[in-house]
Amino acid sequence: MCGLVGIYGVPEASKYIYFGLYSLQHRGQEGAGIACFDGKKIREYKNLGLVSEVFNEKILQELPGEIAIGHVRYSTTGSSTLQNVQPFCVTFARKTLALAHNGNLVNAHTLRCELEEEGHIFQTTMDSEVIMHLVVKYLREGLVTAISKAMQRIKGAYSVLLLCDNVLVAFRDPWGFRPLALGMINGGYALASETCAFDLLGVEYLRDVAPGEILVIDENGPKSYFPFEKEPQPLAHCIFEFIYFARPDSLIFQKNVYTVRKNLGFNLYKECPLSGAFIMPFPDSGTYAALGYAQASGLPLEFGVIRNHYIGRTFIQPSEKLRDLSVKMKLNPVKDFIRGKEVIVIDDSLVRGTTSKNRIKSIKLAGAKKIHFLISCPPLRYPCFFGIDFPQAKELIAAKHSVEEIRKFLDIDTLYYLSLEGLLDSVGDLRDKVCLACFTGNYPLEVDFSFRKDITEIK
Ligand code: AMP
Repeated sequence: MCGLVGIYGVPEASKYIYFGLYSLQHRGQEGAGIACFDGKKIREYKNLGLVSEVFNEKILQELPGEIAIGHVRYSTTGSSTLQNVQPFCVTFARKTLALAHNGNLVNAHTLRCELEEEGHIFQTTMDSEVIMHLVVKYLREGLVTAISKAMQRIKGAYSVLLLCDNVLVAFRDPWGFRPLALGMINGGYALASETCAFDLLGVEYLRDVAPGEILVIDENGPKSYFPFEKEPQPLAHCIFEFIYFARPDSLIFQKNVYTVRKNLGFNLYKECPLSGAFIMPFPDSGTYAALGYAQASGLPLEFGVIRNHYIGRTFIQPSEKLRDLSVKMKLNPVKDFIRGKEVIVIDDSLVRGTTSKNRIKSIKLAGAKKIHFLISCPPLRYPCFFGIDFPQAKELIAAKHSVEEIRKFLDIDTLYYLSLEGLLDSVGDLRDKVCLACFTGNYPLEVDFSFRKDITEIK
């Protein structure tokens, strides 16, 4: 998780970044930051909190310049402290550098130990800092060489924006785990994790930064480098971006998220056609699959639970105690509507099962006669090491329990998960280019499991 925005060659770049980050707020709500090149050096401002809480007019005025990058953070590695908010900025050999990273490295631990042996001093607990250390280690050989060399060493998911004084560089891992799009604006360039940021800023989408590409933007315009000699790795775009994470109005991996989510709903109906009074989503995550199911079935789509929009995504607050409280605050059933009805409830995923248990309970208390619960992806059985915050295997309800056991735990009439084939069909021509590790346990690259006992337990 995390969201990135970059701007090159546009006056008041940091204001563009600010608005861009606003539209990527769903990708991380723990902290936000902007780094910009003011003509001489890079200035930065970052803090814990939402974009609207971190920045104000005065702060943005103190971030002048035409080149900037920004980041919204949700921690998957590294704790939730100010130190770990990005962009991560350093000064090295009279250059100022700032780095913003989306994704997770799987060999960060090994690399960090190695670098520390060589005398590198780390300031944070983020895997992203390892990328910066590797880049500066080779920086005297030139920026592109330095990034190429760093990319040969780091393994895992990384979509990165790097400012090196007045040069903006974007680079992406050869598997293409996390999205990163390139666009044009007023003669300048923009980069963003999702195109919904482009829509807001009036940026024209050009293309994605390619997996394995280093894209350098300087006064000569953009230039691409491909540091990997061999054929690109089999692509492994994160399918969970489509299922849950990205915004439905975005294009990621060149595909519209809304359309894929509706396809998930169509396929759910194909596999599990049910009858009932109406289809209802757990908003917002289940809304588009529910829409697809309703359209395929001809049954009405109703909003049987109402969302309080002023509560963030429940899983964003890391402590269990808070999670329970915000679940109750977030969704409230329309009791008069649900009472005595047989309802088909749709959500995008079941992770720990605790949120769903509470939500189902509230529908039951509202008097639902029967509850059918359909999930628009297969059972999540394996942790993600590439940037989605899936807990340890032991916390994933489907890792330890059968579908029937989960149905009983939820105390419902039907529980159905979309099949892997149904999921793949929904992404069309991307079916051979996606990472399915959270469902299958087949990780696209070797993970340094030595410090993650939970995965060896389950495999
Ligand atoms: P639960 O019933 O506790 O497994 O929570 C399921 C709900 O959490 C679904 O509505 C999901 O959309 C949402 N969710 C999605 N991704 C995550 C995640 N990485 N961690 C926790 N919850 C998530």
